[in-house]
Amino acid sequence: MNHIEQFEKIIEQQKARVEAMKAGDDFVDYKSLDKIIIGIIGGDGIGPAITAHAHKVLASLLDEEVKAGKVEFRTIDGLTIENRSAVGKAIPDDVLEEIKQCHVLLKGPTTTPRAGDKWGNVESANVAMRKALDLFANVRPVQIPEKGIDWTFFRENTECLYALGSQGVDIDDDLSIDFRVITTPGTERIARLAFEHAKNNGKNRVTIVTKANIVKKTDGKFLNVCKEVAKDYPDIEVDDWYIDIMTAKLVDEKRRKDFQVMILPNLYGDILTDEAAEFQGGVGTAGSANIGKRYAMFEAVHGSAPRMVEEGRDKYADPCSVIRAGAMLLSHIGYQEQADKLYAALDECTVTEKKLVITGRDDGATGDEFADYILSKID
Ligand code: NAD
Repeated sequence: MNHIEQFEKIIEQQKARVEAMKAGDDFVDYKSLDKIIIGIIGGDGIGPAITAHAHKVLASLLDEEVKAGKVEFRTIDGLTIENRSAVGKAIPDDVLEEIKQCHVLLKGPTTTPRAGDKWGNVESANVAMRKALDLFANVRPVQIPEKGIDWTFFRENTECLYALGSQGVDIDDDLSIDFRVITTPGTERIARLAFEHAKNNGKNRVTIVTKANIVKKTDGKFLNVCKEVAKDYPDIEVDDWYIDIMTAKLVDEKRRKDFQVMILPNLYGDILTDEAAEFQGGVGTAGSANIGKRYAMFEAVHGSAPRMVEEGRDKYADPCSVIRAGAMLLSHIGYQEQADKLYAALDECTVTEKKLVITGRDDGATGDEFADYILSKID
């Protein structure tokens, strides 16, 4: 295939994607469901231990709903590196089927082998899940109350430079070209999610981050579509910033407190959320959400910590990040009161009271003890 044909093929693929998005479902209305099915995926390494603690906390908060048949928890065991490696798939087919029977998922970290590992070349389960479930929004809250920071980043997860990252072309030895894709429906859906979040969480400012003055077509479209969506939210103030100055403003202690909700294309979102996470520090301080119209997946921000397991320290792993992800899940499916209780308990246990401390070793509390400590703060 010559370069022109390759470019034509990419255009056809992306046009088909646009049509599929246009024809796609609307966001699930959880209130309209008879029963919400929450899948609990242990994953690898410390994943099964910390996810079991989070499961216990969520099950306690939703006890009445489970008894009334409005909520069901389903444990999905098969998303392990052993199984994935045995079938040579990022997500084994039967496991994907189980996952697709759920509405939302709480997922433990999954190991992605490095080149030369005994597991062979198994692709990232996270990337595969984002694609298979069309989880187009990566939502990352960053809260540092003592510094007045309360940000939520909405990073688009299916487009931008990453979507076609492996489809660039070497025209000749001296010239290489990559492609970047931004679509109207792809931008519309993340913008809508961000503005709805702002509206439902009492936020009055949404910031759009691009480099639209230079990257005129793709960033220009992203900015314009976000501004179009903003018209449906007249009570929310909207501003737009360029990624370079935005990166600087996040370290500006006088100005950064003013930002609330941010919408970004994939690459800028990747960079800015890592910068923001660095201010927050600590593995227990954040959860992360991957949201689509039909499915949503919530997880810790850290990995599977294989060394902790090898050294027999998995019971001392900190479950707070995945429990925070559980609070995000509760809020997403409409159980805001339970989510607020859980956030308050987490803040009390990890910031204000700190009667137990997790160190990752036997001089600190176990994850199970910490989960009980959190539960003791919830009436
Ligand atoms: P990691 O987050 O697993 O570990 C980094 C450090 O943090 C280690 O010292 C670890 O012991 C510590 N740590 C992590 N979580 C902890 C917890 N809950 N309590 C106490 N200490 C904790 O990062 P890594 O070593 O780069 O990655 C290990 C594996 O995890 C890799 O296979 C990677 O691909 C995978 N990973 C998965 C996800 C995910 O599924 N979302 C995310 C990141 C990494």
